[in-house]
Parts: sequence; C-alpha cells; structure tokens
Amino acid sequence: MRILLAGGAGYIGSHVAVALLDVGHDVLVVDDYSNSTPASLDRVERITGRSIDVVEADLADLPASRAELSGERFDAVIHLAGLKAVGESVTEPSRYYRTNLSSTLNLLDIMREHAVSKLVFSSSATVYSPAAEGVENLDESQPSGLGITNPYGWTKAMNEQIIRDVQRSRPGLQAALLRYFNPIGAHPSGLIGEDPAGIPNNLLPYVAQVAIGRRDRLAVFGDQYPTPDGTGVRDYIHVMDLAEGHLAALQHLEPGVDTFNLGTGEGHSVLDVVRMFSDASGKDIPYEIVAPRPGDVARAVADPSKARKRLGWQATRSFAEACQDAWRWQSQNPGGYPI
Ligand code: UDP
Repeated sequence: MRILLAGGAGYIGSHVAVALLDVGHDVLVVDDYSNSTPASLDRVERITGRSIDVVEADLADLPASRAELSGERFDAVIHLAGLKAVGESVTEPSRYYRTNLSSTLNLLDIMREHAVSKLVFSSSATVYSPAAEGVENLDESQPSGLGITNPYGWTKAMNEQIIRDVQRSRPGLQAALLRYFNPIGAHPSGLIGEDPAGIPNNLLPYVAQVAIGRRDRLAVFGDQYPTPDGTGVRDYIHVMDLAEGHLAALQHLEPGVDTFNLGTGEGHSVLDVVRMFSDASGKDIPYEIVAPRPGDVARAVADPSKARKRLGWQATRSFAEACQDAWRWQSQNPGGYPI
C-alpha cells in the first residue's frame, strides 16, 4: 500500500515510517515541520535504503492541504499530526483545539475526496478517566473522556469522538484508535529518535539530557504517591514496538471504529527510569524530589491484551533495551538533529 503518514517527520512518525518501509509499503509524508525537521526523513531513508515522498503542508489549512494532495494517490492514512505539549496546551488552548481538531476534520474530508477508507489514529492513554479504586491496568472498556486535566488530552478524546461520528455517517470507514502509553527509546541504529524543542516535558528526554550533561539534574515530581517507591508509575513502550503496532492495526482494519491500547502491561516508576538509564549510559543521573506536577496520576499502565488477541501484536522489546537505544540516539546526536 501507499500510506499517507500525517506528521511523519516527528518522533513517532519517523519510526512508523521505518516500520512501513521495512515491510514494503510506500510512504507519503505530510508534515509542516512545526515541531520536526526534514533531517529525520533523510535518516529514515538511510536506515531503510528506500525513498519517501514528502508534501510540506499544514493539515489545519484545508485549501492548502487539499491543493498539495490533489494529484496524490494513497490507500490508507496514519494520522499522527498535531501539537503534543501538555503544559503548552494549558497556556494556549485555542491553538491546540484549532490545530488538533482541524487537522483531523480536514484529513477526514480529504480521505473522502480521495475515496480512502482506512485510518489509523494516534490517540493517547491520557483519554482515560482517572482509574477507579481497585482498577490496576487500564483496558479499553475503562471510562474515557471524563476528568481530563489538559486541552491536549481533550483534543485526543474529541478526535476519537469525531472519528466515531464521521464513521457513523460513512459506514465504509475503517478506523483504529491507538491509545499510546509512554513511548520511549529509538531505532537501534541511533539515527532517529526524540528531539524535543526547548526544555523537554517528558521524563525520558529529560533524563537523557541530564545524562549527556545538557541539564544539571532531574526534578522528580512527587514521591508520596501510593506506588512501591512513592514516585509515579507509567507503562514505557519502545517506540519501535509502538510503530509495529500501527502496522498490525492497519492490517486488521475492518469497517467501524475500534480502540486499542499500545502498551507493555508493565509499570516502572520514575526512580526505576533513573536507575535503568544510569545503567544504560554509565552516567550518574542527579535528581531531587519536588512537588507533584498538577494533573499527574499515580499510575497509568495498560492492559494490552486486546491488541494481542485481535491484532496479533505485543511489545517484545525490554525496558532496558529501550533505555539503551535512547542512550545510543542521545549520545550519537547530543544536540538532536542537525539544523
Ligand atoms: N516526571 C518527572 N520529572 C520530569 C518529567 C516527568 O518526575 O521532569 C514524571 C511524571 O510525574 C510521571 C512520569 O515522569 O510520573 C512520566 O511523565 P511524562 O511527562 O514523561 O509522561 P506522562 O505519563 O505524564 O504523559
């Protein structure tokens, strides 16, 4: 198939591109490089020995995107385009809603105009409502779309609803909503990886920058949670496992909308991450405990059994491997991609 990969130059997109090209699909990337660089796509071409077609367009701009894509043929869409910084979404909610919702609405229009019915959408575990007492790992039947603490998370929940409603009006549409847990790591080549602009919001890139000496110390957000060591527990999934989850979802699409967790089912605390990354890098990771971050939950770990049963997919790479691969990327590219 020829896959339109929206947001394909970003951290997850570039890894999905490798997974698609490696099994013989063709890839057409649409990206506006607002939080990414074409250098990542050059690296994807180096890794795979394949070439990628690229259209530079802002999907929130319908006339421009429509014009850029008018002569293009594609068989399916993987939609990972959007803004993703939680904190920024609180200070700039209008920009987040406008960008993240418009891009989905526009892509759905463009799909109809091109008679394309297959869609894989990048959603997030943040759509889950805080887990009820006694619920350990989150499965897809857990309540979502209530009690979300930031506009970024709301845009994911709203995009899920938009896709469900459009599917009801267009029954041929086949969509998979993939709820990512915490993607970490990098392609084992060390050529592509996460390259956040400015101060990283997420734990792994922050820890990696402490290890490389770009930042002094990690601030650990709270150590009084009801978890084994008191720090927050998350389900960290290797980005190549996550990327392969997109392939599996694409292969198993059927009419309707279905939801899948992409996670490992294992939880690791912030201090586990510090220890594992220190082992992987051979560097000390100084840290200090600070106040909890508003909106954080104690624990978010997937029950990934639905994806295993229905998609024949499960994460196979270990947490240690993810930290080693993240370190290879960070140490080979201490300043991120070349500008
Ligand atoms: N965290 C931390 N310090 C940081 C960034 C994150 O202690 O500088 C913690 C955060 O409180 C959470 C975990 O690391 O328990 C993962 O946070 P991240 O922002 O990477 O992902 P989230 O699960 O919040 O989407």
